[in-house]
Amino acid sequence: MALPENFILDLKQNNPIDSVMGGYVTLKRSGRGYVCLCPFHSEKSPSCSVNTTGQYFHCFGCGAGGDVITFIMKMENLSYIEAVKFLADRSGMQMPDNGESNDFARLKARVLEINRTAAHYFFDTLTKSPLGEKGRRYCAERQLTRDTIIKYGLGYAPDDWHGLHYFLRDKGYTDDELVISNLCTKSSKGAVFDSFRDRVMFPIIDLRGNVVAFGGRIIDGSGPKYLNSSDTPVFKKSRNLFSLNFAKKSTERKLILAEGYMDVIAINQGGFENVVATL
Ligand SMILES: [Zn+2]
Repeated sequence: MALPENFILDLKQNNPIDSVMGGYVTLKRSGRGYVCLCPFHSEKSPSCSVNTTGQYFHCFGCGAGGDVITFIMKMENLSYIEAVKFLADRSGMQMPDNGESNDFARLKARVLEINRTAAHYFFDTLTKSPLGEKGRRYCAERQLTRDTIIKYGLGYAPDDWHGLHYFLRDKGYTDDELVISNLCTKSSKGAVFDSFRDRVMFPIIDLRGNVVAFGGRIIDGSGPKYLNSSDTPVFKKSRNLFSLNFAKKSTERKLILAEGYMDVIAINQGGFENVVATL
């Protein structure tokens, strides 16, 4: 049985993210939210922001982010269900029955974790690895600034059949989980390999700050120009828009609908937050 949605809503209401995070880090007021030194990487000036309206946090330095449950999972090193219990205890709430048998919620949390780890891998490859040279050249040609690359968490999937596959396997994820998350593909003969190769990677981030999917743009050669994650336990293509996480915060009441991810990013870099693309 899944945890009732109302229970999770109440749990979040009873555990505001700023009050929970305030127990771990020093929050400083900034606009309508807060900023703090990120507890997940070492830094001297604060790059972790806490959005109290949307009830999520996001670190622009290391990419960590999510809602209050994600924060506790990371901070206390807990599974999804354990983090829910932790917060229920904290706010004196009774866990609903059968909370533990929530296999689907566990799988979703696992896929989100895989996505976030993969986003780091792609980002690190683009910004630091010798394997990312081609991606860096592409970003330079498109005149993307470093700030934009960080803001969107852009990445590069190297021209390798097992780069991400082995990276994630070393972190303890199973082939089945990687195929479910759509980052790997299984051939009819049972071989597992990277779904995205030699592509500039665009993480698709939902309103809670979760990386729910990826779009990959080919740099040259053959194949479709854009390759998107198929639907997964955490992603329904028809229900998401690229860059909505930024557009949502814009004070503009109109949305600019652009054709591709690169158009969105170029327009955003030009100073318009209220731009999105369909997937
Ligand atoms: Zn960080």
